[in-house]
Amino acid sequence: MRRVSVLGASGSIGQQTLSLLAAYPGRYRVVGLSVHRRIEALSEWVSLFSPEWVAVTDAEALSEARSRWGQRVMVLSEKEFYSHLESDPGDIVVNGIVGSVGFWASWHTLQHPTAVLALANKESLVFGGKWLAPLRERILPVDSEHSAVFQCLQGENTESIEKLILTASGGPFRGKKTEDLRLITPEQALRHPVWKMGSRITIDSSTLMNKALELIEAYWLFAVPQEKIEVWIHPECIIHSLVLFHDGSMKAQLSLPDMRLPILYALSYPSRVSFRQERCKLPEVGGLHFESVDESTFPSLRFAREALQRGGSAPALLNAADEVIVEAFLKGQISFLEIFDWLEWTLSQPEAFLDPENPVLLAEVEKEFRQKLRVHLRLSVHAG
Ligand code: MG
Repeated sequence: MRRVSVLGASGSIGQQTLSLLAAYPGRYRVVGLSVHRRIEALSEWVSLFSPEWVAVTDAEALSEARSRWGQRVMVLSEKEFYSHLESDPGDIVVNGIVGSVGFWASWHTLQHPTAVLALANKESLVFGGKWLAPLRERILPVDSEHSAVFQCLQGENTESIEKLILTASGGPFRGKKTEDLRLITPEQALRHPVWKMGSRITIDSSTLMNKALELIEAYWLFAVPQEKIEVWIHPECIIHSLVLFHDGSMKAQLSLPDMRLPILYALSYPSRVSFRQERCKLPEVGGLHFESVDESTFPSLRFAREALQRGGSAPALLNAADEVIVEAFLKGQISFLEIFDWLEWTLSQPEAFLDPENPVLLAEVEKEFRQKLRVHLRLSVHAG
C-alpha cells in the first residue's frame, strides 16, 4: 500500500486527488493533509481517511483545527509541517499548493531520501527550479502537459529529444488581435472554453502566461534547452503535449481533458491503474487542429524565454508579478493589455537582475518586489 500525503488539499487538485484516493482504498493510504486556511474542506476527508497528520499553515485556522481534531490526529503548524516532510512525508507527496509558497513544501519533501514528489505546483520550479532540478529524478509531473511529455519519454533516451512541444488551448481570445483585446473585461477572461480552473490560472490561460510558466517548468523538469521547447495552440485539448525525436518521429499523449488522469498516472507510476471514465472517441471529435502562437499579440512566451536566459531572480519575479498583476486586472485597476506592459516592466526592474544564492534570499527579494508592485498598481499592501 502506498502512503500518500496531499498538500493544498482544499484546492482543485487536492480535492480531485482525494476523490481518486478514496476510489482505490486498497491501494493507497492517506497519511497527511495540508491546507492554508480552509479547514472546513478537510472535515469529510479527515473522518474518511483518519490521516496521521494534518498541517494548517495559517495561525488562526491552526488553533481552530487543533480544537477540532487535536484529540485524533497530529495537527502541525507550518514549521512542524516542513520538518515532518523531511522526516516522514509518505511514499508520494502530491503538491497541489497554489502559488510560489508551494516551493517550500517541494523543497522539504525532496530533502527526504526516498519520497517522490507528484508536482502540480508549477511555481515550485518557476521559483526555485535551480535548487529542485538536481533532485528531478524523484519529481513526477502532474501538470497535464508535463505529464504528457513524461509519458511520451518513457523508454526513450533524453539525448534523442529534438523538441518538446507543449500544447495550449489558446484560451478564450484565440485568434484575436491586440485591437480586439483593448476592452476585455475580467468576466470575459474568466470564461475558459475547456478547462475549469481557479481564477488566476484561467486569466493566465487567456494571456498565455500559464503556458509561459509551463515552459519554465518543462525546462527544469526535462533538462532540455529552452530553444528546444515549443508551444502549439491546439483548441480541442485532446493532445496534451508531444515529443519530436531526432529521427523525425513524434509521440503524443491523448485523452479527454481531465486532470484526474495526470494525477492518477503520477500516483500509479510506473504502472497504470484501471479508471472507468468516458473514453476519448476521435471519430466523434472529428478533427484536431493546431496553430502557431501569435506572439506579437500574446508576448508571454517571450517573457518566459527572456527570464530563463537571464536566470537568477527573473523567473521567480515574473511569476510573482503575474500573480499581483492578475489581481489588479480582476479588481479593475488595469486593462487586459496592461497585463503585458506590467510583465515587461517587471523584467526591466533592477530586482529582476539579481542572482540570490539560496531560496531564502530569493523569497525575500520576491516578497519586497511584490510590495513594490502592489504600490505601483494601487493595490492594498499587506504582510506576506
Ligand atoms: Mg497545464
